[in-house]
Amino acid sequence: MPPAPVYFDHHATTPCDARVVEAMLPFFTETFGNAASLTHEHGRRAASALEDARIAIARFFGALPNEIVFTAGATESNNIALHLVQNDQHLITSAIEHRSILAPAKRIADVTILQPDREGFIDPAALRAAMRSNTRLVSIEAANGEVGTLQNIRVLAEIAREGGALFHSDVTQAAGKIPLDFTQLDLASFSAHKFYGPKGIGGLYVKRGVRVEPLISGGGQERNIRSGTVNVPGAIGMAKALQLRSSEMADEAQRLTALRNELWDRLTSAIDGVSINGPRALRLPGNLNVSFERIEADSLIVAMRRFSLSSGSACSSGQRGPSAVLTALGVDEPTALGSIRIGLGKSNTSEHVAMFVDDAKRMVAKLREISAA
Ligand code: PMP
Repeated sequence: MPPAPVYFDHHATTPCDARVVEAMLPFFTETFGNAASLTHEHGRRAASALEDARIAIARFFGALPNEIVFTAGATESNNIALHLVQNDQHLITSAIEHRSILAPAKRIADVTILQPDREGFIDPAALRAAMRSNTRLVSIEAANGEVGTLQNIRVLAEIAREGGALFHSDVTQAAGKIPLDFTQLDLASFSAHKFYGPKGIGGLYVKRGVRVEPLISGGGQERNIRSGTVNVPGAIGMAKALQLRSSEMADEAQRLTALRNELWDRLTSAIDGVSINGPRALRLPGNLNVSFERIEADSLIVAMRRFSLSSGSACSSGQRGPSAVLTALGVDEPTALGSIRIGLGKSNTSEHVAMFVDDAKRMVAKLREISAA
């Protein structure tokens, strides 16, 4: 078998840290109780571990333990958050949100979609101008999963609040990568698998005093916000993953920023006609999104078989046509179709970057030759 490709798609998901798996294992076999079964010791032990996990997660984000609701992941959390907007209330969001925001937003009658600038930033003045007396919720992501743009969510949240609305942020791409302070927000969504935790577990931060309506009803778990038996091993894994991030995140962010910059510098000196999508600074540490002139990204991704790469969000890749995020940034269609998204993570090194640039140089030359013929 050829060696496994180098993983360059850490925005889609990350490998679960072995220390996280180790922390989870006893909760499948020994402490397997249902955390709602408080009549016996098996249930009480699971419940107690679950509350410890909630405390650790809350502490990481600067929240109170009962402000953290366990969900199956950010898709579910985003849907619950948007469900707040009822009847003739108004929602404000942006054109570059994840589809788990944009799809439920389509079911709301009164929605304003803010357009980003060329680098993906949402202008606070545009938000202020869009606020109305019936605006119930403003939902703007903390970091974009394709071009890595980091929004100034503190300022955006203040504007929402001054206008009498709640502020939700999809922090899925930012959580565990950059410092976040939930006290600035009213609601926030996250998924553990984006920060070296397990898949199928995430959370919704709901600030004390904010009332949300459940999306599904049942046994009333998680303060009746999210019914269903809680995924205890997942919650333990998410807490462990965040505990590791609190000691490792800052160094990793510095290292990945340098590695990303090295990749950009090497790419531009080795290959002509390369452009960057999104901002140069104020972007996620491991994120780079580049377009190659006269190249179709899909062909390049297939040709670069030593790397696991993507042209955009995993949920949207596979769809034909240019990325909706790049289109919203004003990137023209041929440039958008020639773009690849690189998501560097913990396992990536300078050797990977050198190997990537070598392969890209050869493959881009070859594909350009074919298309010119
Ligand atoms: N929001 C953003 C910004 C994301 O990148 C993702 C995952 N691609 C999600 C939400 C959804 O997360 P999940 O698939 O874990 O529900």
